[in-house]
Amino acid sequence: MKNISIWKDYSKKTNYNKLDKDLDIDVVIIGGGITGVSTLYHLRDSNLSVALVEQNKIAYSTTGNSTGKLSFLQNDLLDKIRKYSGDKNAFSYISFQVDGMNKMVKLINDKKIDCDLKEVDSYLYTNKEKEIDKLKDLSKFLNNRGINTKETSNNLVESKYMFSVDKTYMINPIKFVYGLLKDNTYPIYEDTSIIKIEKKKDGYISYTKDNKIKSKWVVIASHYPYFIKPMFFPIKVNLEKSYISASKKKIDPVSLISYSNPFISIRTYKDYLIYLSNSHTINKDVDDLSNFNELLKKVKDLKLNPDYLWSNIDIMTSDGMPYIGRFKDNMLISTGYNTWGLINGFMGGSILSDIINKKKNKYTELFSPNRGSLGLIPTYFGNIVKNIEGYIKGINSNVDTRYIDGKKVMCKDKHKVEKKCPHAKCGLRYNEVEHTWDCPCHGSRFDINGKCISGPANRDITVSDND
Ligand SMILES: Cc1cc2nc3c(=O)[nH]c(=O)nc-3n(C[C@H](O)[C@H](O)[C@H](O)COP(=O)(O)OP(=O)(O)OC[C@H]3O[C@@H](n4cnc5c(N)ncnc54)[C@H](O)[C@@H]3O)c2cc1C
Repeated sequence: MKNISIWKDYSKKTNYNKLDKDLDIDVVIIGGGITGVSTLYHLRDSNLSVALVEQNKIAYSTTGNSTGKLSFLQNDLLDKIRKYSGDKNAFSYISFQVDGMNKMVKLINDKKIDCDLKEVDSYLYTNKEKEIDKLKDLSKFLNNRGINTKETSNNLVESKYMFSVDKTYMINPIKFVYGLLKDNTYPIYEDTSIIKIEKKKDGYISYTKDNKIKSKWVVIASHYPYFIKPMFFPIKVNLEKSYISASKKKIDPVSLISYSNPFISIRTYKDYLIYLSNSHTINKDVDDLSNFNELLKKVKDLKLNPDYLWSNIDIMTSDGMPYIGRFKDNMLISTGYNTWGLINGFMGGSILSDIINKKKNKYTELFSPNRGSLGLIPTYFGNIVKNIEGYIKGINSNVDTRYIDGKKVMCKDKHKVEKKCPHAKCGLRYNEVEHTWDCPCHGSRFDINGKCISGPANRDITVSDND
């Protein structure tokens, strides 16, 4: 059994150089997931000098650990948006999803991007009696938007009510991102982390460990930003982690999700069935091993034998809408996709590119990163409590800790790492299935040697014997 996402096994890692000089450019894009690469793609015809810096490898973080679905049928997210932002904005959100999905599919076909695109019906179901009316209402809402739904059933899951929509898609997300880079002429730097950004009179300076990038615009495409101010992310959002398996099973292509928690998401890829479960807010329950074990039990009940096991974490916003746009001066951000980031990331890149190119975009207002409302204050308060809870729980490390030269370090076999995450000093936990060090507060991840593989942390935590 492999402890990486199936997409990583079915695509070849990129190999761009590390940044080794100072740059003076118009736009720096920080992060090479779907958001950063889409922004780079949408800026392709501008007369601007642009560079993208990625702290690890292109599409290897959240994007490369997703389930690769392109669908506007997104669990209970639309109902959350209806609750906090009203039906009008929920209509706009659905249009954004359908527009985005169709643009991506057209691009895949026009540019002949080899990303294993599959058109498929998507199913949404509940096995709770009390949710049947909610699903029926959601189905009606979609019908009013011109989307046909069909009451149906599927023998992969037990359900009390299920409906489907047609013309949704599935891709290999890593191969799609690589496809966006097919004709790219802008420089890309991998293994290059931005550790500080300073505002200057005429723009910004972004610092790596050894170099500086001067730019007029900064695009934060790093998923969870490493800085706390000015957006105060830890208060506004929480993080959701899920566990995923891929097992050999030959069935007709299918894409299926449950409406609410406990979330189940199923899709096919080649001869595999991908099964996701055990979603939880990361600072509530940090025990990865028992979550993986529960996932294994569920898939074994379906007579599946997993070949791949991995986990993934995404940012959940309090009102269900992503944060896309300008948040301060010429600093732009696109993130907070509530586990639906492939369409949102692609379209987020187009909004950010339009802002830079001073072009109108009808969706800019909808996703303003500086929005807020009094109604969200209780949720913000809840997020503060979760942060504190995660901080305390995480301190109880699940591996040996030792003092080396007066410094407390964690040890796993011959590997030694710092005990706390460099981002906000939360105690790290060892993930025994993926062999990573995971932060239970804000989702940073490090490989067993301490190399940072997911932000918001922006440096490694390796402790060598000479430290
Ligand atoms: C379990 C799960 C399943 C999902 N399945 C789906 C799905 O089927 N369909 C869908 O649409 N969405 C899905 N999503 C959501 C989707 O994966 C994410 O929303 C999306 O990939 C986020 O993309 P991103 O580019 O913003 O972030 P990322 O892909 O994380 O990219 C950010 C990049 O920035 C880099 N970075 C971070 N800090 C720095 C720094 N300081 N300097 C330089 N680089 C930096 C990181 O290394 C990373 O590569 C899923 C999410 C989860 C948790």
